[in-house]
Amino acid sequence: MTELPRGLLEGIPFEHEFATELDGFYVPWQATEVPAPRAVVVNAPLAAELGLDPATLATPEGAAWLSGSRIPDGARPLAQAYAGHQFGNFVPQLGDGRAMLLGELIDSRGRRRDVHLKGSGRTPFSRGGDGKALLGPVLREYLVGEAMHAMGIPTSRALAATTTGERIRRNQPEAEPGAVLTRVAASHLRVGTFQFFAARGEGERVRQLLDYAIERHYPEVGAGVGSDSDGGLERALAFLGAVRDRHAAVVAQWMSVGFIHGVMNTDNMTISGETLDYGPCAFMDGFAPGTVFSSIDRYGRYAYGNQPRIAQWNLARLGETFLAFVGPDEESRWIEGMTTEIEDFTEVFGARWLEAMGRKIGISDPGPSDVPLIDALLQMMEERELDFTSTFRALADVLRGDRRSLQRLLPNPSAADDWLARWSERLTAQGVPVDAIAAEMERTNPLYIPRNHRVEEALDAAWRDSDMGPFRDLLDAVTRPFERRKGLERFEGPAPDDFGPYVTFCGT
Ligand code: AMP
Ligand code: MG
Repeated sequence: MTELPRGLLEGIPFEHEFATELDGFYVPWQATEVPAPRAVVVNAPLAAELGLDPATLATPEGAAWLSGSRIPDGARPLAQAYAGHQFGNFVPQLGDGRAMLLGELIDSRGRRRDVHLKGSGRTPFSRGGDGKALLGPVLREYLVGEAMHAMGIPTSRALAATTTGERIRRNQPEAEPGAVLTRVAASHLRVGTFQFFAARGEGERVRQLLDYAIERHYPEVGAGVGSDSDGGLERALAFLGAVRDRHAAVVAQWMSVGFIHGVMNTDNMTISGETLDYGPCAFMDGFAPGTVFSSIDRYGRYAYGNQPRIAQWNLARLGETFLAFVGPDEESRWIEGMTTEIEDFTEVFGARWLEAMGRKIGISDPGPSDVPLIDALLQMMEERELDFTSTFRALADVLRGDRRSLQRLLPNPSAADDWLARWSERLTAQGVPVDAIAAEMERTNPLYIPRNHRVEEALDAAWRDSDMGPFRDLLDAVTRPFERRKGLERFEGPAPDDFGPYVTFCGT
């Protein structure tokens, strides 16, 4: 674009706060050159937020940097160190095995955002892996992350998906196209980043990381909390409580849209509170709290209904890392304080969940007395395996006097009569016209989510046939998820019965 003041590759104002302030927390690294980078999707609105020109990103020169094949001037690529509990087992060294941070950009709202490449080749953290990613999983992360964002859920974002021109043999008998996801996030600090240094007994580094995380993500905690006389306890507790509050809110949002992350290992849990690392994630159709899609989650650790408990468990692992810089005589005081912060997750999550679920059924100020009403609905949904997403839209239709969509879900709709009567009574007490409540429910409950069968269809067409059409159509639907549009009917319903049980894989 001639409008750009400088050529794309020279003009990007990367900053390197992480690299400068946390020297020793990463390994400087170069991405691997790839044969034929091609940007198959570019996120124009996100590019604009970052001050980048989407048309230039789509050029061969743009694709070269989006894939890490050519490092733009001003970028200082590095691989971050982190550890993590994977399915409950601690692994002291994970790290960016197939990813790299290029630097940070300050967006149009003044926010510092990481620009990161996933699938950009081997690094010192690769262990046995090839450092690469496949087009299918890259597009899944793109699609699901953008859908989450459109539903108002904090998440990392996808700036672009770029094929590399390589073919990689992984899960399928045939080789699949290699790809890189250019990912944008508030940061890539993870619970596992703290664990990496705590496990090595590097207490000073854990403290340094804590200071940085507060400065970057929780400046309100830094201001005036605590004094040095308590060894930083009050400040650390305020931080832990603030991270807890964000995760309680984000997991409540996941629950409210039927999202299953699938691999809530501590290395996949951010400090910022954003949803990160979409691997075997998926949305459930029929409501069943035990739902698990991931092929490797054999015991259902990361089932839909376990997600709040797992978030709390992960936060406890974060708190523990602070003990790396606390003297033995102070330990019990810290443990006591941190235990309270972690225990409070239950209450904070409960409040966020009630708000989210209340809003889904049109209650603007839900209180504890509404819990039985919500539970009764969920019980009915579970008993009859009602489609999670469609049920809430059908309820909005009922408010508008149209029971047809409810009838389609429930062969015997009178089974819902008792519940509908209780609900109606509760809504009447709000003193708001029912049409206004229905409209609010339609702004709250998505109509189009990345349905498993549609995701598979879109990914298959993309990697098997180089046909991006189905992906684009689905992306368009899920990034404007609330407003019913003509021609998108096929994205509304659950998978047909012959789709069979759904299984997802980690293999990016
Ligand atoms: P994930 O399952 O994406 O959360 O990744 C867990 C760990 O495995 C991280 O340290 C990744 O960097 C690493 N990893 C996953 N896939 C690969 C790969 N293809 N090559 C190298 N490392 C990988
Ligand atoms: Mg990960």
